[in-house]
Amino acid sequence: MYYVSTRNKKLEFTPAQAISQGLSREGGLFLPASLPRLPGHALENLKNMSYQQRAVYIMGLYLTHFTTSELTAYTAKAYGPEKFDTRAVAPVHRVDDKTYCLELWHGPTCAFKDMALQMLPYLLTASMRKNYDNRTVCVLVATSGDTGKAAMEGFRDVDQTRILVFYPKDGVSEVQALQMKTQEGENVGVCSVVGNFDDVQTGVKQLFSDEELRAQLEKEGIFLSSANSINWGRVLPQIVYYVSAYCDLLRDGAVAPGEPINVCVPTGNFGNILAAYYAREMGVPIARLICASNSNNVLTDFLQTGTYDKNRTFFNTISPSMDILISSNLERLLYSLSDGDDRRVAGYMEQLNATGAYTVDEDIRKKLQSLFAAGYANEEETKAAIGRLWQEQNYLIDTHTAVAFHVLERYRAESGDETTTVVASTASPFKFCDAVLEAIGVTDLAQGAALLDQLSEVTGIAIPRPLAGLRDKPVRFEGWVQKEQMKSVVNGFLK
Ligand SMILES: *Cc1c(COP(=O)(O)O)cnc(C)c1O
Repeated sequence: MYYVSTRNKKLEFTPAQAISQGLSREGGLFLPASLPRLPGHALENLKNMSYQQRAVYIMGLYLTHFTTSELTAYTAKAYGPEKFDTRAVAPVHRVDDKTYCLELWHGPTCAFKDMALQMLPYLLTASMRKNYDNRTVCVLVATSGDTGKAAMEGFRDVDQTRILVFYPKDGVSEVQALQMKTQEGENVGVCSVVGNFDDVQTGVKQLFSDEELRAQLEKEGIFLSSANSINWGRVLPQIVYYVSAYCDLLRDGAVAPGEPINVCVPTGNFGNILAAYYAREMGVPIARLICASNSNNVLTDFLQTGTYDKNRTFFNTISPSMDILISSNLERLLYSLSDGDDRRVAGYMEQLNATGAYTVDEDIRKKLQSLFAAGYANEEETKAAIGRLWQEQNYLIDTHTAVAFHVLERYRAESGDETTTVVASTASPFKFCDAVLEAIGVTDLAQGAALLDQLSEVTGIAIPRPLAGLRDKPVRFEGWVQKEQMKSVVNGFLK
């Protein structure tokens, strides 16, 4: 199998080239030239396997230049018991007869980013070796919270890698800041920057396009790379859990072989729901993909009208990992829905760059509307969904997952579609204690790490291990800089 760019399908890349390069030179994203299909009895066979074995099988269909023993070693390390607090890795929790929650937050940082970022370092370093490239990878990340922490946990102490994370000094939750300041590992660095997330992201983009810095690092055998969700090595591990969820339902008799399900995903950069789309294309019986947004509902409008328009007010919400107005991975979907029309995709992306908006052609709009349903939840609706699930089902969910539940309930009421549905649950509620506490009716909130104890006491649910240990960990990274100083931080870090 070879890979092409969404903006130029003439050039062919091996899986290792696509993963180590990350982004194509003309700005496009890599994807397989054609998607593999699951053979007839694959789901029946996979249903009796462990998560790791399922991952080896699915990833192997896409990574034709990797051996089974390589993939077996990576999945053992990435998804092993030292990293995940349940052997199921991504368990499916039954909420009611027709609603199941795919819990993607049992990894080391308690958010779904772990599912991909535990695997990416192995795929990336193996890809470099396969390309006979022995440079050290330095991963630079701008984070609004979840990605940076998950990337550091994935890359910590992985040979031939370094990772440096920048986050906005006053733009992350207290728990998130504490998670980053106490990060362990010999090859990691963390620095907060005065400003908001956009300032930090702009700063990191400038570092990537700084030719002088790049040339100097090149001499030292260092190559700058990114860990954000445009890398194919992040999308691929996410396909696995949708296949796995269906296998679990089959194994437990919740669906009959071939019975369709719907999938509902809280969406920001469109990476997670794109993986569900790929699982569907591979042959997993998924009928509808339900795309759930918060008040930054640019995708709701796009899927309903065919016009993507990022020229709108930006809201800071209680589901901050979905506060995004440019959903980068949508480009891969447009490529598939236009049957690989790279010229058209490049045209849409040029318009987006120039004007902040584009409208897809009629053929694509029709396909979008048959595949996807879309909706959004405002802040009150998000909290109400948390409260309702807690009261009625005794099931505690985080703010992002709550957005999905709200959208699913509305979708069911409006469409009458009662298909069994898997909701992607993307974070532990303990990562967003304050909003969750308020949603279940607590008004007098504790401060800082004491919020974790408070949520645990009120609900009787144990604090996840990686968060419970935070308070006793020494703070290693206290520094903060102005955004003009970010380059000197990189230089100091790589000395
Ligand atoms: C990143 C993130 C999302 C959004 O995922 P995308 O792949 O960007 O759509 C949703 N919830 C949580 C908790 C996240 O960290």
